[in-house]
Amino acid sequence: MTANLAAILYLVAGVCFIMALRGLSSPTSARGGNLFGIAGMVIAVGTTLAQPSVQDYLYIIIGIVAGGAIGTVIALRIKMTAMPQLVAAFHSLVGLAAVLVAGAALYSPELFGIAEADGGIRLISRIEMSVGVIIGAITFTGSLVAFAKLQELVGGAPLVFPLQLSFNLIVALVVIGLGVYFCFGQSEAVFWIMTALALLFGVLMIVRIGGADMPVVISMLNSYSGWAAAGIGFTLENTVLIIVGALVGSSGAILSYIMCRAMNRSFISVIMGGFGGVAEAGVSASQKSHKPGSADDGSFIMSNAGSVIIVPGYGLAVAQAQHVLREMADLLKKEGVTVRYAVHPVAGRMPGHMNVLLAEANVPYEDVFELDDINSEFATTDVAFVIGANDVVNPLAKTDPQCPIAGMPILDVEQAKTVLFVKRSLSPGYAGIDNPVFYRDNTMMLFGDAKKMVEGIVKALQ
Ligand code: NDP
Repeated sequence: MTANLAAILYLVAGVCFIMALRGLSSPTSARGGNLFGIAGMVIAVGTTLAQPSVQDYLYIIIGIVAGGAIGTVIALRIKMTAMPQLVAAFHSLVGLAAVLVAGAALYSPELFGIAEADGGIRLISRIEMSVGVIIGAITFTGSLVAFAKLQELVGGAPLVFPLQLSFNLIVALVVIGLGVYFCFGQSEAVFWIMTALALLFGVLMIVRIGGADMPVVISMLNSYSGWAAAGIGFTLENTVLIIVGALVGSSGAILSYIMCRAMNRSFISVIMGGFGGVAEAGVSASQKSHKPGSADDGSFIMSNAGSVIIVPGYGLAVAQAQHVLREMADLLKKEGVTVRYAVHPVAGRMPGHMNVLLAEANVPYEDVFELDDINSEFATTDVAFVIGANDVVNPLAKTDPQCPIAGMPILDVEQAKTVLFVKRSLSPGYAGIDNPVFYRDNTMMLFGDAKKMVEGIVKALQ
């Protein structure tokens, strides 16, 4: 394949990836977006394999078959609720790849076409390698720590020790200093010390960040993995990798910004960490008075309501109750009840988690509203039906500046005439804090697994 044809095909692949991102920005066009993404990837991989510099296909085929098989098994087995840790694990691999590519370029610059006549590496390539390896190493270990926290292999609370921020800052400055040194005085030892310290910095940065900020961390690592890929693209002189890396890097950064805004946190304060620990125990939840109810009660209250707003959360995903929930909504609509869904930006365990579940159950898009568009409606709504959600409806975020979710905008369900809570117990949610709405006079607790409870309500409605 000629270089010109390859350049054109890479451009076509780049356009496909941009179209994919555009499509994925709305549930109605997401399927088309995915098709563009697949087409772009086929063109990009095919073009790369047809390059004259690729002379031996054996290892590539082994890699594709092994990686494809592992990826297929994981994709078939993974539960939607475990998606964030899977994404974190995948990000770590992108980071590791960036480190390995830079390492390979260090030892065989001539194979990468970055060698100078004296056998050294070109200055511009040394700069690209330093940036790529630093971002890649931070992404690798940072993503592994995020994976361990989300998989609950280690505690989700932030690990804070004295003078930690100063220590982190010193490590960061030393890494940058070594990067600059490597650019001007190529040295294998400096390269590997810089890599080791960047790996350490990835751990130090993420251990400080607590559970409640994990959504932002995931999208931030997504962004880092994009920049790491762009770094590899420069080292390999592969245009499409640079384009894709920049797209992932910038879209991840924009998503992090949107999530920070949704949680009312500044990006810097997230990175500084130390947020999202376990709240101190007060009066035990079970000692406070609350009003339990049954599926029949829920059905009676909702069928007599004029309007119901459903607030889905993580528990809906665990119970896989989305299909029966839509059935319930359809029955209520038949009885003349106005039914809408309110989706909080960090409900569930990954960005867009609830939108995916509701789309899977064919909930009409026009019934689904974002926080800003529906929050003022709770005050004039008869029933807020909170199913498997907790933190995203916890008013402590507004009233207790010390609580782990302080400042996060929440859905004001307590303003509805009646609040129905479907969950199994009075246990807290992800942020580990009790929810005062459980104990309000206008709240009824429908204890049970979300799917079973809604099945009971559907039966009663029928
Ligand atoms: P929460 O984690 O606050 O609460 C979920 C509730 O679901 C729990 O209180 C639990 O109560 C209940 N539950 C669990 N299993 C079931 C079940 N089978 N049936 C019924 N209920 C069940 O969820 P929210 O969606 O309200 O909030 C999301 C939280 O996750 C936020 O703190 C957010 O910061 C964080 N997060 C969000 C991410 C994202 O990108 N969206 C990523 C990572 C974290 P019980 O045990 O009593 O049943």
